[in-house]
Amino acid sequence: MSGGTRAPGRVKEVTSLTNPIVKDIRALALKKFRDQHNAFIAEGQKLVIDALDLGWTIRTLVVAKTARGNEGVEKLAARALAAGGDVLVVGEKVLGAITRRDNPQMVAGVFEQRTTPLEKIAPGAGDVWVALDRIRDPGNLGTIMRTIDAAGAKGVILIGDTTDPFSTETVRATMGSVFAVPVTRTNLDRFLAWRASWPGLVVGTHLKGAVDYRKIGYAGKPVLLLMGNEQQGLPDELADRCDALARIPQAGRADSLNLAVATGVMLFEIRREALTLEERR
Ligand code: SAM
Repeated sequence: MSGGTRAPGRVKEVTSLTNPIVKDIRALALKKFRDQHNAFIAEGQKLVIDALDLGWTIRTLVVAKTARGNEGVEKLAARALAAGGDVLVVGEKVLGAITRRDNPQMVAGVFEQRTTPLEKIAPGAGDVWVALDRIRDPGNLGTIMRTIDAAGAKGVILIGDTTDPFSTETVRATMGSVFAVPVTRTNLDRFLAWRASWPGLVVGTHLKGAVDYRKIGYAGKPVLLLMGNEQQGLPDELADRCDALARIPQAGRADSLNLAVATGVMLFEIRREALTLEERR
C-alpha cells in the first residue's frame, strides 16, 4: 500500500527462524522476491530515519529484542507504527539471518520499492542526471548513488540489464542515498528514443574521448552524463549519440579508472563549474 493515510501498524514478537513473516523477509535477499513483493531491506537506524523523513512507505520495522527500551529505537518503532508499518520484535539470531550479518544492527526496515518512469524526468537548467549502461557491480552502483546525492545531481538512469538498486549490498553502499536519489530503469531502445528530446548536453565518458573533461563547458544547461559498463565501456550505439565524449587524463599504468571514481570525478567537475558560475554572479 502506498500514498494516502494508512491504519497504524501492529507489534508482533517472533522467535523462530521458520516463522512465515521471517521467511518472507529473509527471501528479500533474492532479487526475484524483491521484485515479486516490490520491497527491499534497509539496515540501521540512520537509513530507516532517512527513509521515513523522505516519505518512503515502510512495511515492517524489524527490531532486536535487546534494543527494546533504547530511546532512539522506541521512537523509531512509534514512528513506523504511526506510518502504518508493523513492528517485528526478534531475537539476535533472527535479525542476523535477515540482515545476513554476524553483528547485525539493532533495526532493519522493509520498504516499498520506488522508481521514477523515464517520461517523468523533466530536467531544468543546471540539472544533472547520470545514465549508467549495464552496470554490474552493486558496490559501484551504491557508491555512485551516494556521490550523485553529494554532488547535488538529480538522479540515476539504469540502462539495460543492470545490478539491482534495491539489493542489500547496493543499499548498504548508498549509505542512505537510495532514499534521496530517484532511480529510473529502462532499456537501450527506450533510452535512445528518450535521449532525442534531452534539452541540454549529453556527455559520454570514454577512454578514447576526444575532449579533456575539464574543457567541455557544462554550466547553465541540463547535463546527461553517460557512463560505460565496467568491462566493456560505452558501446558505439550510446557513444555515437553523445554531444561530447569526455576523457579524464590519467597517469601511471592503470588502463582506466573505476566506474564509480570516474563518475565522481565528472560530477564534481560539473559541480565545480556550476559553483564558479554562481560565485561570479
Ligand atoms: N575496459 C573498459 C573500456 O575499455 O572502456 C573500461 C571501462 S571503465 C572501468 C568504466 C567506465 O568508467 C568507462 O566506460 C567510462 O565511462 C569511465 N571511465 C573510466 N576511466 C575513464 C577515463 N580515464 N576517462 C573517461 N572515462 C573513464
